[in-house]
Amino acid sequence: MFMTLKLQKLKTLLNEVQDLRSVGDLLEWDQQTCMPSGGGESRAEQFATVKKLAHERFVADEIGQLLADLSAKGAAGDYDSDDASLVRYTKYEYDRKRKLPSALESEIAQHTSAAQEIWVKARAENNFKFFQPALEKMYDLKHQEAEAIGYSESIYDALLQEYERDMTAAQVKSVFDPLRAEIAPLVKAILPRVDSVSDACLHQPFDVDKQREFEATVIKQFGFDFGRGRVDVAVHPFEINFSPDDVRLTTRYDPNFLNPSLFGTMHEAGHGMYEQNVSPTIRRTPLCGGTSLGIHESQSRLWENLVGRSRGFWIHFYPKLQAAFPHLAAADLETFYRAVNRVSPSLIRVEADELTYSLHIMLRFEIEKEVLEGRVRVSDLPEVWNAKMQEYLGITPPNDKLGVLQDVHWAAGLVGYFPTYALGTIISVQLFERAIADVPGIPAQIERGEFSGLFNWLKDHVYRHGKKFTPTEVVERATGGPLNSAPYVKYLKTKFGEIYGV
Ligand code: ZN
Repeated sequence: MFMTLKLQKLKTLLNEVQDLRSVGDLLEWDQQTCMPSGGGESRAEQFATVKKLAHERFVADEIGQLLADLSAKGAAGDYDSDDASLVRYTKYEYDRKRKLPSALESEIAQHTSAAQEIWVKARAENNFKFFQPALEKMYDLKHQEAEAIGYSESIYDALLQEYERDMTAAQVKSVFDPLRAEIAPLVKAILPRVDSVSDACLHQPFDVDKQREFEATVIKQFGFDFGRGRVDVAVHPFEINFSPDDVRLTTRYDPNFLNPSLFGTMHEAGHGMYEQNVSPTIRRTPLCGGTSLGIHESQSRLWENLVGRSRGFWIHFYPKLQAAFPHLAAADLETFYRAVNRVSPSLIRVEADELTYSLHIMLRFEIEKEVLEGRVRVSDLPEVWNAKMQEYLGITPPNDKLGVLQDVHWAAGLVGYFPTYALGTIISVQLFERAIADVPGIPAQIERGEFSGLFNWLKDHVYRHGKKFTPTEVVERATGGPLNSAPYVKYLKTKFGEIYGV
């Protein structure tokens, strides 16, 4: 068969796989937003069937043979071309999925649902011992998974690469260590002054319809296309999509606190704009979508924090927010800006502020790596966790519910996932800095409520490529240098140094 025919055949097969995956995503979106609670059991069956079909079709021998034939150097075109990228990426994903024995995969799937139920109960009862055997088994299974996939340096790499396909634990550590050395003293300096900033203005009654209206205006101006996307309500907000032309955001409204939905919607819109602007030439293929969780998170954090929590943004939008909520008249722009940037070292990761957030991530990264490498026992986790919390954030959890039991990730089998949150934050500042260097008018545009300069830069350097390039390649191509936490440190020191006078 000629290469062009093989490529055509591969695309036809992958289009169907992609359709099945999107159908699975649609079932999931529906479950999280509008399915009646009684639908759970049949939905789980439907979801499992669609997922199984997508998996079987993807790991088929025929796809493997086509990928092998097309992987010969230059067979599918030059490195940057859509076709060569499709073969390169799909081969990576295919090889990884084929390495995992199906018996192990189904054991992990089964244990994942069992462990999550145990975790819910253990957390509610503040009882780590009850969760411990399930967590030990989970780490044992993840150990087997990593061994099956293979690695060259740390066993952690095999699991991390499920989310960041060309990164290693050593690389993450080399970025996290200097970052922690800079942030921890800054947090300690701010700790005695946290009460110099009040966020009382954010804790007032805010009409939910007006919140929705205001947020829609904001993200529309960012560049989120409501003709190809929508916003719904979910308990745990997320972004999901079925194609670049159908992107679903979710949010959660608190009628007495502005932050969850205001910043949550900007965050999810960052994910959504990435997905909406993947090049149409790679739609309906495995390349269609954000390239890694870290790069994805860099987009949500960029719009949420670097734009949404900036003074410039509020110069334009605060009068509009005050018009929607006249009781904000009592707080001037500066008070409001400080309120949305208040630092408050928290026991809970998901409630952490912009400054302390990365410390929560580093702690989890270090712990899960040590458990996997056999240097810390699961039974010692509560103690190890609390010691690190004290060291990094200056607070000790009074119980495991507010400590080691707080996140669902490990119970859900997501080991190697946590670093992506902090990597995204670090990368968001690298990208933002570079965008401004390339388009110096961006800050002035933001003060006028215009975002096209920033949006178009991101579209050109990040969005349109989808999964064509690895996370490392995206950072290097977009910023001209490697992953680097120095811009993030500089940003934090400047911003929070000014707010807290340290
Ligand atoms: Zn996110």
